[in-house]
Amino acid sequence: MSNSETKFRGLMEKVVIIGSGCAGWTAALYSARANLKPLVLTGKQPGGLLTTTTIVENYPGFPEGVDGYELMMRFQKQAERFGARAQFGEVEAADLSQNPFSLTVDGETLRTETIIIASGASHRHLGLESEHLLENKGVTYCATCDGALPIFRQQPLVVVGGGDSACEEALYLTRFGSMVYLVHRRDALRASKIMAERTLAHPKIKPVWDSVVTEVLDVKQNKVTGVRLKDVKTGAENMLNCAGVFVAIGHLPNTQIFRGAINMDETGYIIPTRGTATNIPGVFVAGDCADRVYRQAVTAAGLGCAAAIDAERYLAAKNK
Ligand code: NAP
Repeated sequence: MSNSETKFRGLMEKVVIIGSGCAGWTAALYSARANLKPLVLTGKQPGGLLTTTTIVENYPGFPEGVDGYELMMRFQKQAERFGARAQFGEVEAADLSQNPFSLTVDGETLRTETIIIASGASHRHLGLESEHLLENKGVTYCATCDGALPIFRQQPLVVVGGGDSACEEALYLTRFGSMVYLVHRRDALRASKIMAERTLAHPKIKPVWDSVVTEVLDVKQNKVTGVRLKDVKTGAENMLNCAGVFVAIGHLPNTQIFRGAINMDETGYIIPTRGTATNIPGVFVAGDCADRVYRQAVTAAGLGCAAAIDAERYLAAKNK
C-alpha cells in the first residue's frame, strides 16, 4: 500500500475543506450533517488565527468571552461529532483543470469532487531585512504566543499598527513589559472605538503617532535592542530602545497556490462569482481569504456555513 493510500485511503472525497479556522470547521459541521463526510486539511496552524488570541469577546453566545483556542477546539469537536475528519497537512499544489480535482498535500495526492477554500490569512510583515533577520529573536507577530517570554519581561516593547489587533497586542503586553509603545503611521487609530479608548487610556501604553519603523536594531547583536523610527510628516529620524517588536499590521490571504486558477484581487483575496462559488464550478470559498472587509470570527463562520450549503447543492445537482 502506498503512503498516499494510507493517508488518504485512496478514496475519492466528496468535500475537502482547506483550512481549520472558523470558516473551515463551520463548513465541516454543515457538510458532515449533510452526510458528506468532509475531510478538513488543517494547514500549518490548526484552528487558524483565532487560536493565537486570548479572550474573544465578540463571538455571540459567550457573554463572559471565550479563549480563542478553546473556541476552536469546540468548533472541531462539534464537526467531528457528525463525522468530519481532520488531517494535519498543508496543500502544496492544486490541479483544478478537471473534476475530480487533485490536491497535493505533503507530497501526496488527494482527489475530490468539491473544494471549500477556507485557508484564512497570515500576518503581514513590514518587509524590512532587519525584521526578517531578527524574527523570533525579539521580532514577533503574536503577543499571545510570545509575550510572556523572559526576554520581554519588564522591558520596553514596541507594537506596530493601529488596528484592533495592534490594540489587543498592546493591551496584552502591558502585563509583561515595562512600557508599550504603539507605533502607528497615522495620528488616529483604525481600531474599533471601544478598543481604541481602552488602549489610549492605559497608563503603560504610549502612542507614537505618524511614525514608521525603518529598521529593527540590532542585527549585529542578533537580538532586538530598539527600532529606528521615521516621522512621516517631518521626515525626522530617531531611535527607540526596546527588547521586542510586535508587528500587528494586518493580514495577507493564504491563496498563493490558487493564483492563476481562481479569480482574486491584486492582494490575493478570492473574488466569488455568486454566493460562495468561485469561477471554477465545484470550488467554493469562505472566510478571511475572501473577505477584506469584515474579517470577524462570526462572519467567517457564517460564510463557512454558506459554502457547505453551496457545495452540497452543487453535488446534489451534479449527481442527480
Ligand atoms: P487592520 O484593521 O487591517 O489594521 C492594520 C493596521 O496596520 C492599520 O492601522 C494600518 O494602518 C497598519 N498598517 C498596514 N500596513 C502597514 C505597514 N506596511 N506599515 C505600518 N502600518 C501598517 O488589521 P487588524 O488590526 O489585524 O484587524 C483585522 C480585522 O480583525 C479587523 O476587522 C478587526 O476589527 C478584526 N479584529 C478584531 C478584534 C477584536 O474585536 N477583539 C481583534 C483583532 C482583530 P492604517 O490605519 O493607516 O491603514
